[in-house]
Amino acid sequence: MTQQFQLDDDHFHDHCGVFGVFAHPEAAKLSYLGLYAQQHRGQEAAGICSSDGAELHVAKGMGLVADIFDPKRLATLAGDSAIGHTRYSTAGDTTLTNAQPIVIDCSKGKIAIGHNGNLTNAAEWRRKLEHRGSIFQTTSDTEVIVHLIARSSARNLSSAIADALNQVEGAYSLVILTRDELYAIRDPRGFRPLCLGRLGDSYTVASETCAFDLLDAKYIREIEPGEMLRISRAGLESIRFAPPKPHQYCIFEHVYFARPDSLVFDRSVHHSRENLGRLLARQHPVPADVVVPVPDSGVPAAIGYSLESEVPFRMGLIRNHYIGRTFIQPVQAIRDFGVKLKLNPVRGLLEGKRVVLVDDSIVRGTTSRKIVRMVREAGAIEVHVRISSPPTISPCYYGIDTPTHEELIASADSKFRPRLPEADAISMPGSSPNAAEGDPSPQTVEEIRRFLGADSLGYLSIENLRDAVSDTEHRFCTSCFTGVYPTPPVQLQVRDHAAQNQENSQETQPTVTRES
Ligand code: SF4
Repeated sequence: MTQQFQLDDDHFHDHCGVFGVFAHPEAAKLSYLGLYAQQHRGQEAAGICSSDGAELHVAKGMGLVADIFDPKRLATLAGDSAIGHTRYSTAGDTTLTNAQPIVIDCSKGKIAIGHNGNLTNAAEWRRKLEHRGSIFQTTSDTEVIVHLIARSSARNLSSAIADALNQVEGAYSLVILTRDELYAIRDPRGFRPLCLGRLGDSYTVASETCAFDLLDAKYIREIEPGEMLRISRAGLESIRFAPPKPHQYCIFEHVYFARPDSLVFDRSVHHSRENLGRLLARQHPVPADVVVPVPDSGVPAAIGYSLESEVPFRMGLIRNHYIGRTFIQPVQAIRDFGVKLKLNPVRGLLEGKRVVLVDDSIVRGTTSRKIVRMVREAGAIEVHVRISSPPTISPCYYGIDTPTHEELIASADSKFRPRLPEADAISMPGSSPNAAEGDPSPQTVEEIRRFLGADSLGYLSIENLRDAVSDTEHRFCTSCFTGVYPTPPVQLQVRDHAAQNQENSQETQPTVTRES
């Protein structure tokens, strides 16, 4: 008897990556490569929509970019402009219907849209729009934006988009393609990244700059929070479509999501991660023989920890990169099979050693526990777990797939963590006595250490996390570490019908700046 087996992966997951290119004869192929470079941002589905100036052509599929598109399929995507989208979907949501770009034909013409992020008032808007007769094709909140654009009474598309976006709340980095224009848009808080590049005479946009590197495109700048960039044959127009709001760049992009070779929010991800490791070493030093990363995401922080502590860095765990998302498990029970498929210890580097095991985050803790056991079974005499971010205590509502409160091991109401009897509660050395709002108690950290079976456990503090990305002005979102959100996590800002109707009838007057 065999069973299909879900591989262990105890991380937050980015929902999506987006890409766009305007006025390039190989638009579809470049979009393919742009998505290929950003495959880490979503592996469930992908799609490309191109424009030949008269028609939009779209192709979407489930799975990895390289599996969905072959030369024949790419050849159907005619034209010199295109957008692409790669998607990570949540449980129960793995249908082709929700793959993007979404294409509609409305009073503003044919438009295609790709969205990275999550709207916090999508459910309320969906109910309202359905009540008014809108028929939804997908369960994705992106379609709310599409319906609001279609229903806007604004005379031109950029004003209709502004009109729609001024009614939604939350995180969105958007690429929108029409027959003759490409839009790149970031929400006023700038939760998710989006950047502009140049490829010869053409413009390109992508979630991360690693897409530009593959194409030999030159990084120009970020799309600013609250900016709508309209790219046409006339050049670039920068449109401010919403009043400014305090910035909330997702700090987790620098901790885990983005590729370390990318620039995100105009700073090097690798550099941030090495800083995280250095600060972690200062905050939680421990006598040890080797620093071992949990590959791949723990590598830059482990390098930083090793450089700062002068404890040698060793690749004591090897990752198998050539596995799919599911596997057939043998009849014979193998303990920690899922983790062993992905990681294998190098006994010669761990045997008899005091090991500092560095990872970027602990979400449920179940995988970390298996890795600690694996390192011990390979002969380590001590295992000290160091995490290059604070405990994740609260879910994300801004475009990241996160478990519920009770599934997060550091959350106060986690169902995974064994409870310590009162008398057994021990304060962890190094846990901040002046913890930021929402930090788990020292007792909670000690409970997690016990659950993991580690000799010690040290998380980076919020203050050091901000330091690592030079966030002196508090421009980064840290809500999953604090439980304090910059927007209402449920819909609280929906305008009433009367106000809505009135506002819909008034065309938004965005500010326009022309760039050459
Ligand atoms: S809650 Fe966490 S994952 Fe979500 S945007 Fe904020 S920092 Fe990023």
